[in-house]
Amino acid sequence: MLTIHHVTKHYGKTKALKDVSITIPKGICYGLVGPNGAGKSTLIKMITSIIRDYTGDITFNEKKLSDKSKQKLGYVPQDIILEEDISAISNLQLFGNLYGLKGSQLKERINEVLTLIGLQDRGKDKVFTFSGGMKRRLNIGCALMHNPELIIMDEPTVGIDPQSRNYIFQMIEELKKAGKTVVYASHYMEEVERLCDYVAFLDRGEMVENGTTSELLQQYAVSSICVKGSNISVEELKSYGMVSLEKDVFLLYTEEPLQAMEQIISYCRQNSIEVERLELVRPRLEDVFFRLTGSNLRD
Ligand code: ADP
Repeated sequence: MLTIHHVTKHYGKTKALKDVSITIPKGICYGLVGPNGAGKSTLIKMITSIIRDYTGDITFNEKKLSDKSKQKLGYVPQDIILEEDISAISNLQLFGNLYGLKGSQLKERINEVLTLIGLQDRGKDKVFTFSGGMKRRLNIGCALMHNPELIIMDEPTVGIDPQSRNYIFQMIEELKKAGKTVVYASHYMEEVERLCDYVAFLDRGEMVENGTTSELLQQYAVSSICVKGSNISVEELKSYGMVSLEKDVFLLYTEEPLQAMEQIISYCRQNSIEVERLELVRPRLEDVFFRLTGSNLRD
């Protein structure tokens, strides 16, 4: 449905994207993942034609991006773009008007979207009375007014409560069921793992790897061992595999987790180290990124 073919983008001397190619099939949720500065927003702005000066090609339904194809795209930006002093309905009306909706068609679509975003009871209320999560949902609703085929979401769950986050996940599932395609940019790996069928990892403007979520997990993620204890030497752990620090625990990645666990137990016994946690952790998308780049997404 959407093909990104060898795109490169500079901002002055900064190379924001370097020869990136991605193919996004219809009806799936495609995750764009990478740390801050990886180039996700730049790529999204290229797909939505906000940025036009780049090299390479982007095609939508096998045609070059045009004003006509833009009508089929919905863009949910990272920032909230709502008018706070007017109601949710008036905000949806504004966006509907922008896409040429009028009269009964507009009214009908506003009702459909309000139901989809779960704000049917709050339609007449002014936006400044909404919680952060409700604003995020309305922000998404505005991008859905023209019933786009492809919806591009840039970090749509930043700073919201878990309930609204779950609501947004359900909305995305509904959109997929309705045959829509979703591009989901995020640095929250758990979200991407839960929602996305395909993933592209970007790092410093380059494509590190891409594929289906399950393939990537199978190919790269090994089980890790979670270790916590006072005075455990990182150097010792590093002698058993790759080590990352997450919150207050060490994660040790190794092809031989059981053997490494035995070694850790015997090291701790010999050095009278009290172990608070020692457990196997199932492979996660987060680990795939770590394996590929040697860095944590939250660094
Ligand atoms: P992400 O969305 O993954 O955080 P961005 O696409 O925002 O990444 O940024 C990619 C790189 O381009 C970063 O190095 C960033 O500093 C740089 N960049 C982004 N926008 C601009 C801009 N308008 N002017 C100059 N540099 C920019």
